[in-house]
Amino acid sequence: DSNSSKSAELYERAKAVMPGGNTRHTVFRAPFQVYADRGEGCRIIDIDGKSRIDAVGNFTSLIHGYGCEAIKVAAREQLEKGFCFGMATPGEVRLAEILAERLPSVEQVRFCNSGTEAVMNAIKVARAFTGRAKIAKCEGAYHGTYDVVETSQNATPETWGDADSPNSVPTAEGTPQGVLDDVVILPFNNVEVSERILRAKGNDLAGILVDVMPNRAGLVPASREFLEMLRRVSRELGALLIFDEVITFRLGFNGAQGRYGISPDVTALGKIIGGGMPVGAVAGTAEVMSVYDPSKGSPRVQHGGTFSANPMTMVAGIASMEALTPESFEHLDALGDRFQEKATALFDRLGIEAQITGLGSLRRVHFNRAQLSDFRSTVLAGGDGAQKVAALAKALFDEGVIIAANGLVCFSTVMTFDDIDEIVDAFERALAKLG
Ligand code: PMP
Repeated sequence: DSNSSKSAELYERAKAVMPGGNTRHTVFRAPFQVYADRGEGCRIIDIDGKSRIDAVGNFTSLIHGYGCEAIKVAAREQLEKGFCFGMATPGEVRLAEILAERLPSVEQVRFCNSGTEAVMNAIKVARAFTGRAKIAKCEGAYHGTYDVVETSQNATPETWGDADSPNSVPTAEGTPQGVLDDVVILPFNNVEVSERILRAKGNDLAGILVDVMPNRAGLVPASREFLEMLRRVSRELGALLIFDEVITFRLGFNGAQGRYGISPDVTALGKIIGGGMPVGAVAGTAEVMSVYDPSKGSPRVQHGGTFSANPMTMVAGIASMEALTPESFEHLDALGDRFQEKATALFDRLGIEAQITGLGSLRRVHFNRAQLSDFRSTVLAGGDGAQKVAALAKALFDEGVIIAANGLVCFSTVMTFDDIDEIVDAFERALAKLG
């Protein structure tokens, strides 16, 4: 990356009109932003013409990479008809049907524009349905940027408190104490402690929010016992169980809930269900989703949204989901397994203390070999690991592979075993440069 590149020049202009020249922290890179021009298959070509394998997939949303003709055709057709209307369109019905067919717990769906909005709506549903305020969430898990769920996302050992009763730690400066007080923090995968914490808050609890494989908390899958406890205890306490499947829907044809065989009351969705267009959805049983029903008087939760269920997203989402068959998931699992095997063999061969966590098409690199089970074990095992992973991601970028700065690697249906091998070869070159 030379400072005379088109990206470097463009970044100079960006700095004048955007804070730090950036409008999305997750894609920020120093010393300057590299701007994408186009995608082809599983690759992104930047505005200086350099091509890289894309193992981020717009943060897990592009499950078909850039190679799905059916999505392009559907989007082009809709583009000619009109981007959006102040009316319902047929696509929303079909996409809702597909989601209800695939997700075991889902009978009804409402669309919004992002995963953040989906989680926000799930919380509003839980509060309206139960008439209670408090939300339980797992320490370290990311659920978007709604106040309530932002808490304890990157708590540090100095702030996170006792392991038996984790503090509700603000992420954004200025978060009101009232917001923090409404959040109950659970230690992910710790059945005994979490159950005790939940029971202590029992009567005030509206919902329990969980991502069964939280990326930022280590990308370690939830144990079956942990999820079964959440299901059982939420029923006993009269709180709703909310799965954040914004990312994990890509773990299986029937989502992570299908993979585990555990049905939440409410599911938050996003990413892959829009085929690459901006999207979110809140979904659940008909009983719970009735809080939105406007046909019998004033609904208990208000929800509109200028771009909610916009037809560009709906048609792209339908095409994306239809192209995603049970066989697609076998392929995605095989890609992920091959990456894990090859990368682990590479670490062994080079004598590097590193491991890969995750499942299916989602994997994460850690520079340690500790037993990871939750956010704290991931942070504590890390040492200088987080910086090292960021340095690896940077070196990989120069070697032609894009992964997330936290070490998340994500695969798409257009990838082949050759692409995986190319990624692992780039790992070897990048690790050599890191020394
Ligand atoms: N939940 C999870 C688990 C996520 O990973 C994300 C985004 N990475 C969100 C919610 C928020 O989604 P969005 O970025 O579309 O608002």
